Amino acid sequence: MELYLGVDVGSVTTKLVLMDKKKKIWASCYLKTSGDPVLALKEGLTYIEDHLPRGGEIVGVGTTGSARHLAGVVVGADIVKNEITAHAVAAITRVPEVRTVFEIGGQDSKLILIREGVVEDFAMNTICAAGTGSFLEHQAVRLNVPIEEFGKLALQAEQSVRIAGRCTVFAESDMIHKQQLGFAKPEIIKGLCESLVRNFMNNLATGKTIEDPIVFQGGVAANQGIVQAFRDFFQGKKKIVVPPEHGVMGAWGAAILAMEYAPQETAFQGFEVVNRVFENRSFTCGDCPNGCEVVFLKEEGVIKALWGSRCGKWTPETVGQKFAESKLEEKTDQRELSVS
Ligand code: SF4
Repeated sequence: MELYLGVDVGSVTTKLVLMDKKKKIWASCYLKTSGDPVLALKEGLTYIEDHLPRGGEIVGVGTTGSARHLAGVVVGADIVKNEITAHAVAAITRVPEVRTVFEIGGQDSKLILIREGVVEDFAMNTICAAGTGSFLEHQAVRLNVPIEEFGKLALQAEQSVRIAGRCTVFAESDMIHKQQLGFAKPEIIKGLCESLVRNFMNNLATGKTIEDPIVFQGGVAANQGIVQAFRDFFQGKKKIVVPPEHGVMGAWGAAILAMEYAPQETAFQGFEVVNRVFENRSFTCGDCPNGCEVVFLKEEGVIKALWGSRCGKWTPETVGQKFAESKLEEKTDQRELSVS
């Protein structure tokens, strides 16, 4: 059986999906990136290998996410695509009539407008943590509530409490204030869910026409409190669909894109990749005001891939040469490098 592997490596979570030609998912995993995308990828590949159906063969690989280039080199990708495309493709596959996608992940959130099956417009929030899953997880720890219970508790609230959601600092101090005023945990959690939704809508949806059906995806879509807060925001007038694959939609989209790309021969490196040793390094180029963060991946001392240089000045050859000449490698720890 011919199978396609989709990989979505974000700064907080790493997702892998194994899919057949009918786009049926045979295996998927959702892992914490924990600051080490290569390790997360290796764990994911081990899981996928363990769940490979008998006679299954990977004939195409797609990668997406903020570390898509790195993932593409490590796994061997036939196609590397941005998250907007990957998420939109998966949403259209699940709900062909979709008009809007809300995606809230660990570290960022996205709004995608789809018209006639094509991405018409999108917005991404990569700056404000108050509209992301990390914010909720942080507040769950503060309230001593397991994040899995967060949504359920929010639904138990008899009233909601307004929590300032403009940024994490305001939200946290406001939440403490409301606790001191004696509001119950479910009420505060409901207020937090509503503040995240307000933040999402203010940051991403201002000036945009939100049409339904809306597909809500990303790890945060598992939180019933947030789903309900979106429903309340639209006063129940918009249809919101949470697909069963909500947590791995980016990876699923990457697998679909790999299938559509139909490589003659896949670049997949095989599951033996888990035994190879990679080193991921970065430095900030200070040679012009762009200050690009240049990231490179080494395997046994050899630079295998490099990205982030907007002008193309840095290539594996030039970085390797400069490093060899002036021991610049030591400076990467200071994340600062200027070469004349
Ligand atoms: S890589 Fe090029 S564009 Fe980026 S900071 Fe250096 S000189 Fe400027």
